[in-house]
Amino acid sequence: MTAKENITAHQKDTLAPLGISVIEDFIGARSSSRPKERLEEVRQRAVRFRERMLAGTPVEYFQSVDIVSAPYPTKYAYLNAVKSLVPFIFLGNRAFIIQFQTSLGKKTLLFGPADVEGNTKTPFFKLLTDKMGRIGDMTKEKLLPFYSSVEVELQKAGIPPESIDYISYDHLHTQELRKWMGSSTTPGYFPNAKLLVMRQEWESAQDLLVTQKKWYCPDGTRDIPAERVILLDNSVMLGDGVALVQTPGHTEGNHSLVVHVNDQIYVSSENGMSVDSYAPLQSNIPGVRKYAEQFNMEIILNGNTLENSIDQYISMVMEKTIAGPNPDHPGFFNVISSSEQAHTWHTRTVQPAFRFGQMKVGQYQS
Ligand SMILES: [Zn+2]
Repeated sequence: MTAKENITAHQKDTLAPLGISVIEDFIGARSSSRPKERLEEVRQRAVRFRERMLAGTPVEYFQSVDIVSAPYPTKYAYLNAVKSLVPFIFLGNRAFIIQFQTSLGKKTLLFGPADVEGNTKTPFFKLLTDKMGRIGDMTKEKLLPFYSSVEVELQKAGIPPESIDYISYDHLHTQELRKWMGSSTTPGYFPNAKLLVMRQEWESAQDLLVTQKKWYCPDGTRDIPAERVILLDNSVMLGDGVALVQTPGHTEGNHSLVVHVNDQIYVSSENGMSVDSYAPLQSNIPGVRKYAEQFNMEIILNGNTLENSIDQYISMVMEKTIAGPNPDHPGFFNVISSSEQAHTWHTRTVQPAFRFGQMKVGQYQS
C-alpha cells in the first residue's frame, strides 16, 4: 500500500461514520513531472467527475448571501494582465448555505462565513487602513462596507445556529474562526458545527511563513477544540450533490466547493476573482484578452500569494471544467468566486462581464 492509499484508507475510516466519502477521481492526477501532462490528466478527470456529479442527485436547498466588501489591489486580482490606472477593485465576500441529503439524514453546510469584525485584525486590512491614516478612518465605511452579517442572513433564512452541521472555507485567509467555533471555554455561535478543512490548510495556518502572514488573521484558529475540526486529506463528497474538491494554488491547502443545483454545477474558490478570470478571451477588462491571447492563457491567476502558481493554473482549469458553461452567458463558466469582484462606480472601467448575484434555489427544511 502506498502512503497515499494509506491516508485514503485512514480517511475513509474517519469520515464514513459522518456519511462523508472520499472522492478518488483525482488521486494521482498530478503525479507526472511534466506540468502540461498534469494539466491534461486533471482536465480529463474533471470532465468525468462533472458527468458523475450531474448524474447524481442535486442538493435540496442552495443560497448565496453577500456579507462584506473589501478593496483589493488590481495588480493581484488579474495577475499581470490588466492595463489600467485603477489601483484597487472591490471584492464582494459571500457565504453559501446548502442543505442536502446524506445516508444519515439531512445536513446543512455553511460555506465561507466571514466574521466581519474579527477578520479586520488581518494584517493586510490593518496595513491598508493604517496607510490611509485619518482619511482611512473617515472612509472606513467605504473601504469595508457591510452588506449584512452571517447571523442576520441565517435568521432571515429561518436557520437557527444549532442547525448548522458543517462549516468550511475554500482557504483560511483573513478568517477569524473562534466566534463561530468556540474555544476551550465557550461553545461558539454554532454549537454543533464541525469545521471541514484540508489538513494542509490547517497546518499552514498554525506555522506561517513570513510571506503568508499578511493574509491570515493572527490567532484566528487558536484554541479551537480539536474534536470540532475534521482534517481532510482528500477531496470528499459530503452527501447528495455537494463536494469539497482539492484545488491547491491560491494556498497550498485550497479546496473548492462543488454543488449540483438543479441541472447546473457551481464551483467556488478564490483561485480566480471573477468570471473573466476563467474566460479571459471573452473579457473586456482592459488588457486581459490581449494578455491571454499573447501568452495562450486559459485562465488568469489571482496572484496575491502565489503559493504554487503551476498548481493554481491547473486547479482553475479543473474548476471551470467541473463547473461547465454558464447557460446565460456563452463563453463563460459557472465558477462563482468566493470573493468575487463587485461592481462599483470608481472601477467601472475594470468590470468583469457579469457577477453572480445572490442566488436561492429550494427552501430550507427544519
Ligand atoms: Zn485568499
